[in-house]
Amino acid sequence: MPATSIDQIVNLAKRRGYVYPASEIYGGLNSCWDYGPLGAELKRNVKDEWWRFMVHTRRNVVGLDSAILQHPGVWRASGHVDGFSDPLVDCKKCKARFRADDLESATCPVRNNVALNDECKSHFTEPREFNLMFQTHLGPVQDEGSLAYLRPETAQGIFTNYLNVQTTGRLKPPFGIAQIGKSFRNEITPGNFIFRTREFEQMEMEFFCPPDEWEQWYAFWKEQRMQWYLDLGLSPERLRWRDHEGTELAHYAKATADIEYELPIGWKELEGVACRSDFDLNAHTKGSGKTLEYFDGQTRERYVPWVIEPAAGVDRAMLCFLVEAYDEEEVDGDKRTVLRLHPRLAPIKVAVFPLVKKDGMPEKAAEIEGQLLARGISTFYDQSGAIGRRYRRQDEVGTPWCITIDGETLSDGTVTLRERDSMEQTRVPAAELGALISERLAG
Ligand code: ATP
Repeated sequence: MPATSIDQIVNLAKRRGYVYPASEIYGGLNSCWDYGPLGAELKRNVKDEWWRFMVHTRRNVVGLDSAILQHPGVWRASGHVDGFSDPLVDCKKCKARFRADDLESATCPVRNNVALNDECKSHFTEPREFNLMFQTHLGPVQDEGSLAYLRPETAQGIFTNYLNVQTTGRLKPPFGIAQIGKSFRNEITPGNFIFRTREFEQMEMEFFCPPDEWEQWYAFWKEQRMQWYLDLGLSPERLRWRDHEGTELAHYAKATADIEYELPIGWKELEGVACRSDFDLNAHTKGSGKTLEYFDGQTRERYVPWVIEPAAGVDRAMLCFLVEAYDEEEVDGDKRTVLRLHPRLAPIKVAVFPLVKKDGMPEKAAEIEGQLLARGISTFYDQSGAIGRRYRRQDEVGTPWCITIDGETLSDGTVTLRERDSMEQTRVPAAELGALISERLAG
C-alpha cells in the first residue's frame, strides 16, 4: 500500500533527513523546503536517471545548462510577460487569496482550512491576472532598465540556444536538447509539501523535428516518458494520461497531454508532454531579429522545425516516488515501515553491519565497506543496537540491501545479505559483493 496521506511522507522525510522545512530555525518560510542528506541523494538519482534515459542512451539528444537570468526580451517574446499569469481573487473578509480557477478544491487558510461556501464567495473581489514571474534587478540601480526575471521554465534557454547547439553540433532534425535546472514561479497557492513550491527544479527536453513528423514524435515521446515512470517503479494503476481540451491548451501548444499520478490528494499532474509547434522559434526570430531555422547545406532545404516537449518536475517526481514506495506492514506483531524505492533511486544502496562491536568484526566490516565505496556504491555503516533494529532503520529509508559481518565471515569470508523487500537472507562471499550489487543496479 502506498502512503495514504502526504503527512506520512512529510513526517518520515523530516525524521530521517530527506526534506526539512527551509529556514526552520527562523520559523520556516512558507512552502520552501531544504533537501537533507538522503533527499539530496534521491533528487540527484532522479535527475541522473532522467539524464541517462533522455540523453546518454540516445544519439540524437544533447544536453545544455543555460542561465537562470536571461535578457528580458526572451520573456517578452515567449509570451511570459503578457500571458504567464493566474487569475487571483482576494477575500475581503478573511484577507485570504485564492486562484480563481481552483475554487472547487480550495479551502480557507485563514479559517482552519474549511471548505469554501457560497457565503465565502460573496466576499471575493473580481478576478485579476497575477503574473507568476519573480522580478529582480541586475546591478545597483533598481529601475525599469535593470529589471530582470528569474526563469519560470528552463525551455526558453533551449530555444534561444537552438542555433548555437544545432550548428556547433552539426545536428539535423530530428534532434533534442535536454536541460535540468531550477525554475521559479510566484505561485498564488503553493502547498502540499514539495508538490507545488515557488522554487523548484525541472527536467525538460525540446525535440526539434520536421513539421510533418510532429504527430509521430509526439506519440513516441509520450510512450517513452510513461515508460520511464513505470521502469522506476510507479504502478500502472496510479498513472494515467489526461489530454488538454481546446480552451485549456497553452498559447504555444498544438496538443498537450499530462501524465497524472494518483497522490493521496487526488490525481495530479506529474509531467506534461506538449507539441509547441514552431511557436517559440518563430517568436524568438521576431523578438531578436535572428532567423532560427534549419538549413540543409546539401539539399538547400530550409524550414523552422516543430517542437515536442516532455517537461517534468524533479521535486514532484520525487514526491510520487516516495508516496509509491511508502509501505507499512505487520511483521512478527510489529509495524514495519518500509520505503520500497527502486534500487537505482535509493539514496543508500548497502548498509554494513558488524554483528558485534568486537572480535575483529568492525575492522572486517570497514574493509568490506571500503571495497563497495571504491566501486561508487553508497553505503551506511552502523554498529550500534540490535541487528533487527538496524534492519528496520534501513527499511524506513529505503536501503535495498544490508550486509551483516559475523563470526562466519572471519572464518569463511561470507556475509549475510538481507533484501529489503522480501527480508530474505542469504550467505554470499564478501569478495563477490561488489560485482553482485553493481550487476543488480545495472539490471
Ligand atoms: P500546474 O498546472 O501544476 O501548475 P503546469 O502545467 O503549469 O503545472 P508546466 O509548466 O507544464 O506545469 O511544468 C512542467 C512540470 O514542472 C510540471 O508537470 C510539474 O512537474 C513541474 N512544476 C511546475 N510548476 C511547479 C511548481 N510550482 N512546483 C513544483 N513543480 C512544478
